[in-house]
Amino acid sequence: MAAWIPILTFHDLKDHASVISYPPELFRRGVLKLHERGYQTVSLLEVADCLRSTKPFPERAFAITFDDGYESVYQEAFPVLQRYHMSATVFLAVGKERSTEDKTRLPSLEGRPMLNWQEIREMHRFGIEFGAHTCTHPNLTRLSPKQIDSEMGDSKKIIADGLSFPVRSFAYPYGRYNHHVLEMARSYFVCACSDRLGLVAVGKDPYTLKRVDAYYLRSEKLFDLMLTGLFPWYIRTLSIPRGIRRLIQNRLRW
Ligand SMILES: [Zn+2]
Repeated sequence: MAAWIPILTFHDLKDHASVISYPPELFRRGVLKLHERGYQTVSLLEVADCLRSTKPFPERAFAITFDDGYESVYQEAFPVLQRYHMSATVFLAVGKERSTEDKTRLPSLEGRPMLNWQEIREMHRFGIEFGAHTCTHPNLTRLSPKQIDSEMGDSKKIIADGLSFPVRSFAYPYGRYNHHVLEMARSYFVCACSDRLGLVAVGKDPYTLKRVDAYYLRSEKLFDLMLTGLFPWYIRTLSIPRGIRRLIQNRLRW
């Protein structure tokens, strides 16, 4: 059993030089390696369940999340996840439109192509989970309680109606939350993800789940750290000042 578990965050799987793009080939190779070493995905609900019952996490377990709902999740990630029998949670920013017709796409973010509802339903049938990520992807800390309520409640309902399945997880846009946002998330969901960097440790709050952004795993060498005892240590070094971090990383040739 393990005292911590990594929740990985991806956005778009593309070869663009952008902080939210991650090379598809690196994703494929990384997931294959984890599979070969006996690693398995757990769902966020299982993570939340462990936290609530203060149980340790399964050994060699990790969770995968995709934020926003880019089309590349279907094109690039889904075939890889299917091949290795892995799951993931995709957080959708659904827009205000209530149409969940097959060909309706989610509203574009960053000018990128998004998933349509046919793709979302196909992935759901295979076991990919879907969580809410609001309607319009705002910084929730700047909204009134009424607006926060409709961003969370409406997005949850649109996805639940589109899938005929309950929606139990949430990710804060830009990772931003405050007391009001947190309280609202507690009333709607079973767990919620922040974008604070870290591993999830036993006993932590399921509504402020830390994650590891794939940005920090942008090479095969860095991804391979997940397979080693150095991984928690690497994640910890990322929160220390950059100068000292460079010294350590140069020493270890990361
Ligand atoms: Zn987002």
